[in-house]
Order: sequence, then C-alpha cells, then structure tokens
Amino acid sequence: MLDMTCHRCGSNSLHVAEDAVEWDEVICRECGEFLATYGAVMAAIRPTPLADACLKTQWLARGMGISLAD
Ligand SMILES: [Zn+2]
Repeated sequence: MLDMTCHRCGSNSLHVAEDAVEWDEVICRECGEFLATYGAVMAAIRPTPLADACLKTQWLARGMGISLAD
C-alpha cells in the first residue's frame, strides 16, 4: 500500500494498477485526482534504486574487464 494521501480531498484510498510500472498513474479513488506516477512514488520511498543498479552494473562490468566508458 502506498503511504500517501490525496492532496485534494485528503483520502488515503488510492488506486494504482496491480502490476504498475513507472509511468502508471496513482489516482485518488474518492475524487479521481491524479496524484503522481507510480515511478515517482517509488523513487520517494526507495531513494535512487536506479542509480544504485547502475553503479553495481558498472562495478560488475569493470570486474569482468569490460569498459562502459565509450
Ligand atoms: Zn481525492
């Protein structure tokens, strides 16, 4: 469950798709207000998962002798 409330009506009953992806919308069930994209909400909850993954990939590549620099 998403830990946020509607900025329009204050409801915490939010709709998000079952298998939501980054660009899916998070919408208030009460008034239908668009609140954020799923990706933005997830980024707020778990800071920079993508940047972390990039760092790990870079580190892995370096370990295998592959350069991603060019
Ligand atoms: Zn609302």
